[in-house]
Amino acid sequence: MNIVIFGPPGAGKGTQSSFLINNYNLFQLSTGDLLREELKSGSSLAKEIEGLMNAGKLVSDEIINNLIEKKISDKKIQNQIIFDGFPRNLDQAKTLDSLLLKYNQKISVVLNLKVDYSILVKRISGRVSCSVCKKTFNEFFDPPTECEKSECKNRSLTRRSDDNEETVTKRLNTYDEQTLPILGHYNEMNLVKDVDAMQDISNVSEQISNIIRGL
Ligand SMILES: [Zn+2]
Repeated sequence: MNIVIFGPPGAGKGTQSSFLINNYNLFQLSTGDLLREELKSGSSLAKEIEGLMNAGKLVSDEIINNLIEKKISDKKIQNQIIFDGFPRNLDQAKTLDSLLLKYNQKISVVLNLKVDYSILVKRISGRVSCSVCKKTFNEFFDPPTECEKSECKNRSLTRRSDDNEETVTKRLNTYDEQTLPILGHYNEMNLVKDVDAMQDISNVSEQISNIIRGL
C-alpha cells in the first residue's frame, strides 16, 4: 500500500502521517527529509545540493526526482510508502506515476485532508508557545493556560516569525495555484478519498483507518 497524504499547509498531514507510520508499518517520504539525509551522506550529489542552497537557489525537480527514485527503488520499503508534501505540482505527480510504474508499484489511495482556509489561517497564525518549556497553545482553539512547571512562572508567549496571517495566506495561494491541480489528476484515476480534517485529531485518524479498511 502506497499512500499520498494531500492537503493544504496546516491541515495536519504530518500528524496523520505519524499515525499511519505507527499503525500500518509504513515509511514516510518527505522531500525535506530526503534532502537532509542526502546532505549528511557527503556524496557528490550532497555537495551539489549544498552549493545550490548556499547560493539561495531552489533544488531542481531533477535532483528531487533522483532522490525520490532512490527510495521508490528500495526493496525494503516497497509498497509501504507515505508521500507527504510530494508531489507538489502536476509535473511531479506525473513523474511519480512513471517512477512507480517503473518499479512495479502504484498509489493505493490519495487521502484528501479538507479544512476551511479560515480555520487554517487561525490554526497557524494563532500558534504561540511558552518561551521556557516550549509548550504550544493556540489563541483561537486552545487558549494559553498556566504551564505546569514552576520555572515557567516568568514565561512569555512567543510566536514564530513566519506564523502570521500574511505568510499563511501567501502559502495557501501557492497551494491553490500549484498543488491543488494535482487533485484533478488523481480524481481521473479514481484514487481520491476525502477526509474531514476539521474534526479533532483522533477522529481524523479514525476516518483514515476506515478508508484503509475499505481498500
Ligand atoms: Zn512553560
